[in-house]
Amino acid sequence: MTEYPNEECPVCRGMEWVHQAGIGAKRCQCYFQKQGQRLWKESGVPERYQKCCFDNFDGLKPSLVKAKQIVSAYAQAYPVIEPGMGLLLVGPCGVGKTHLAVSLLRELVLKKQVSGLFYDYRDLLQQIQDCFSDNAQSTVLEVLEPVIHTEVLVLDELGAGKTTAWVQEKITHIINARYNEKRICIFTSNYLEKTPGAGEESLTDRIGVRLRSRLYEMCRLVEIQAEDYRIHIKQAQYRTIGPSKGGRLTDTG
Ligand SMILES: [Zn+2]
Repeated sequence: MTEYPNEECPVCRGMEWVHQAGIGAKRCQCYFQKQGQRLWKESGVPERYQKCCFDNFDGLKPSLVKAKQIVSAYAQAYPVIEPGMGLLLVGPCGVGKTHLAVSLLRELVLKKQVSGLFYDYRDLLQQIQDCFSDNAQSTVLEVLEPVIHTEVLVLDELGAGKTTAWVQEKITHIINARYNEKRICIFTSNYLEKTPGAGEESLTDRIGVRLRSRLYEMCRLVEIQAEDYRIHIKQAQYRTIGPSKGGRLTDTG
């Protein structure tokens, strides 16, 4: 055991405190860095998204540039935002919604030492469901407790997977509890509002009208409709998808 357990910090030589004239002792920058790294390890971001950050977001299309600007500005402003107001990132598969959500979480956790959790919607529901199996490892309360109380929750792929009344009840409980405590939720979802005649399911179909209304109360909507995606679909299916809305991004906050 050396005198300075963390000799790599040249500023404080591992003491994690520095002296500043006129102020006295204050925390060294390395203390906050370590705290952020610990929180990041605990945040549950899957391996495949571990490296996602704003700098490596491939957003060349105007709509994606705008989405990145909104999410990045949100990260900068945090916590000076409307209390409890999160983001709902909606758009088709593969446009980078998860990448943006993880980039936001990364900024908040590493730079601002905010506690946060990342959950894939289906994984969370599976974990809750597993609590009722014969060889359950944890109780529902143990699973829900951190999800309800973490400062920032990223819930990825909202509405994906098979929906049952039971599923809706659990997810509504979590989101209502966070809403009541004004805790931030960052959602991503592939489900948009229903396009007339398109025959696709909407977010309301997937999670119910009450929960959908609640989301709109607690989130700014960032809707991404990537131009390249629309062109791809049109070419693949040789049909017109109504009036072109390519590149549209609405920010209804
Ligand atoms: Zn230091």
